[in-house]
Amino acid sequence: MSILPRLIVSTALLTLPAFAQTIDPTLAVRIDAIPAIDNHAHPLLAAPQYDTDRNFDALPVDNMEPDTEAFELRPEFPALHDAWLALFHFDAQAPLTPEALKQLDAARQQVRREQGANYPAYVLDKSNIATMLANRTSMGNGIQPPRFRWVPYADDLLFPLDNSLLSTATPDRAQFFPLEDALLKQATQQAGLKSLPTTLDGYLKQVVTATLEKQKSSGAIAEKFEIAYLRSFGFDDVPQAEAAAIYARWLHHPHPDTAQYKRLQDFLFRYIASECGRIGLAVHIHAAAGGGGYFAIAGANPLLLEPLFNDKKLRHTNFVLLHGGWPFVHEIGALLQKPNVYLDLSEQCLMVGPRTISTWLREWIELYPEKVLYATDAYPYTTSMGWEESAYIANRNIRQSLGYALTGMIQDNQITQTRAEELARMVLQSNAKSLYHF
Ligand SMILES: [Zn+2]
Repeated sequence: MSILPRLIVSTALLTLPAFAQTIDPTLAVRIDAIPAIDNHAHPLLAAPQYDTDRNFDALPVDNMEPDTEAFELRPEFPALHDAWLALFHFDAQAPLTPEALKQLDAARQQVRREQGANYPAYVLDKSNIATMLANRTSMGNGIQPPRFRWVPYADDLLFPLDNSLLSTATPDRAQFFPLEDALLKQATQQAGLKSLPTTLDGYLKQVVTATLEKQKSSGAIAEKFEIAYLRSFGFDDVPQAEAAAIYARWLHHPHPDTAQYKRLQDFLFRYIASECGRIGLAVHIHAAAGGGGYFAIAGANPLLLEPLFNDKKLRHTNFVLLHGGWPFVHEIGALLQKPNVYLDLSEQCLMVGPRTISTWLREWIELYPEKVLYATDAYPYTTSMGWEESAYIANRNIRQSLGYALTGMIQDNQITQTRAEELARMVLQSNAKSLYHF
């Protein structure tokens, strides 16, 4: 090699951003000292309800046709060892033999017995989480304020017509729509009605607004949409008169016209978002690739939500885009420019390693640091990884990602050590505090 290419190579290296190879040790200690507010997770009830609890998700993704599972969800994921040890004093390397899996279950049960109703809070303590937003259809034993705050689901309210045609789109949706139908039926009964009102106006007042207000008065602080599992984003601004005509035309008829039904859903989505703003609930939206081999990834591009965020009538509603947007990590970051849009790190921080996450996190923090929220997406994923292990591992990953991102920014003279600690506190805690007025 001649001297010239060598010079070019070394200049190029000097001008590259310094992605930190290690985390500043003082900063790491400070990051670990901040208890987190977890913006999104699915904790299970304490025993005896633990084994039968199915209310941890409106659309549980544990029963779908097989897809290619992300490596982190496979039984050989090495980080499981540390989680088992910390949570259940169980010391074995992943993957477990069937016999070892039985021993792990016995260790888990023993801790659940010892902790009783305090068990969910015990899991938070082990994972350095002060408060967890519980995305569940209902709260219950051990999952209560102040450690847990409720985030129910609102997707069922978008689908008041016959959903049998929509169910045929994919095998996953064939499972999902009956679950949404059951939730809407439950909401209708809880509103004191035997069946859906015959007019859209009646439906909005007696079912939709009544449900949101009831959930708010029962402690909800946000509403979650898993809509990306059911249809693509893209919510047109549909006049109420048009939506009312579609509702009246199709309410008692099977197989509503798909294009017209979409217009009704679009109207309802904006109506719910507006009502959430009025009564002080944030709107959470699954905005990333999702579970299952039939999930429509292109339809979950967060940029498709931009017209919603640019609607002046919805500026009083705070939207939180969950899961960091992968694969649309730059697109989602750009949307933080909107004054009422936030993102969280849930799911992604579990599926992707801390070094990779740190590059996206750094980009978002450099631009809009007050819009990024800590979140785990703790969930009963597999027999090897329950909501407990996923909370533990996601927590550690996020703190490491923050460490790498902020150390790199210090090394590049973008921020001081003091500002780095301030930024860590914002992501881990204070951004959520100001968003939810904790
Ligand atoms: Zn989730």
